[in-house]
Amino acid sequence: MRIPSRLACLMAAALVAVAPRGFGQALPDLGSAGDATLSPQMERRLGEAVMRDIRFREPTYVDDPEISEYLATLGSRLTQVAVGARQDFEFFAIRDPSINAFAMPGGFVGVHTGLITAAETESELASVLAHEISHVTQRHIARMLGQQQQMQMPMMVALAAAILLGRSRPDLASGAAVAAQAGAVQSQLAYSRDFEREADRLGLRALENAGFDPHAMASFFEKMQRASRIADDGTMPGYLRTHPVTFERIADAQNRAAALPYRQHPDSAEFQLVRAKLRADHGDARDAVGYFDAVVREGRYASEAAARYGLASALLRARRARDADAEVARLRKTSAEGPMIETLAARVKQALGDQERAVALLGDARKHYPHSRALLYAHVGVLHEGGRDKDALTALTEPMRLYPKDAALHQLQAKCYAALGKRLLQHQAQAEVYVLQGSLPAAIEQLQLARSAGDGDFYQLSVVDARLKDLRSQHAAEVRDAKR
Ligand SMILES: [Zn+2]
Repeated sequence: MRIPSRLACLMAAALVAVAPRGFGQALPDLGSAGDATLSPQMERRLGEAVMRDIRFREPTYVDDPEISEYLATLGSRLTQVAVGARQDFEFFAIRDPSINAFAMPGGFVGVHTGLITAAETESELASVLAHEISHVTQRHIARMLGQQQQMQMPMMVALAAAILLGRSRPDLASGAAVAAQAGAVQSQLAYSRDFEREADRLGLRALENAGFDPHAMASFFEKMQRASRIADDGTMPGYLRTHPVTFERIADAQNRAAALPYRQHPDSAEFQLVRAKLRADHGDARDAVGYFDAVVREGRYASEAAARYGLASALLRARRARDADAEVARLRKTSAEGPMIETLAARVKQALGDQERAVALLGDARKHYPHSRALLYAHVGVLHEGGRDKDALTALTEPMRLYPKDAALHQLQAKCYAALGKRLLQHQAQAEVYVLQGSLPAAIEQLQLARSAGDGDFYQLSVVDARLKDLRSQHAAEVRDAKR
């Protein structure tokens, strides 16, 4: 299933409306559909519930720590200066070639990979994120729903659920009837002109305050509008459906930017590397090699390092590790550096069978970039894949104390315990993965497996028992809430 981009905003908006009985057990109870306002806390809980569905059930969700880390860094530069951005934000990518981005309640912002590759400068990408952030800080989705009370909320939610869970919930997915209703609902839920104007105004201010080129907003709008005129088959970039771009908006953005001093914003190295990575991961590996080969040979690039990074990544995908290794050496000659380059270099060494060098590269890199979560995952992953599970567990100790809610760390821990044949600990770690994914029954099952694993001491068993008791009562409360 893919989330049709034109419905992304609607879906988010519809889900904020009401949580009907029977849909998504994890959705919190919102009270009656007539409640005019939604508290920010409830918005956040709803956003988290929808986000869990996307993260664990949506196949187009980009589960790539380097891409996530990049978007988080770019996003936080904007949220730090955005008006009213006191809440947490989370930015994530959806693998979809269309140019789109959407905000969900609670500060979750989805970015299509097509938007990342269509943006020619980092300021252009930032301008769309800044606009989405402003929809969130101004609580436009909640306010929009305040005006939609007479609408049939349960129908909207069922529709949104069908779109979101079409694959895993076949009972909710149906064809033409849903599509027809979707069109009707969508037309009423596209952001209004007033909301667009407000998001542009505040977004531009955040863009400027974060040090990006404020002229990028108008230029990117124009680009999208041009793209929509060229498409004569009626397909419009998804973004334009939920955020209608008018000449007035473009002119406003131009006028506001014109009043600001010109400022050139050099793109970050990661912006170019992330774009190269998305391109190198796309489609047939040999085609990707051919593409980057031509780019490098003809010098058609904004960043030589990114072009060579793309070529090396594509070569690695095409199982040409030796060629990839040579390309990484040329990449290093450009004097580019960063966690993404070290991770790629290590992956290449690993593919060549040189585990030791791979581990050493990542170990050194973590000293240089101690805050990179992507690098940490790669380091622990390479240790585990090289059979050094005890070292991997040691490397996990401190990060797990720092980030106890990071499911990926618990998952790595479970894998290492499994490899070491420590069954109680393996199931115990797996249980925490499921807790963080919002699936208590699966977590309880894992703890039962941990209890009967037969390789735990008295102390370990009592810890498992206490956690089992805790999760069972949490689960009972959830079931009770759902029945209310
Ligand atoms: Zn908008």
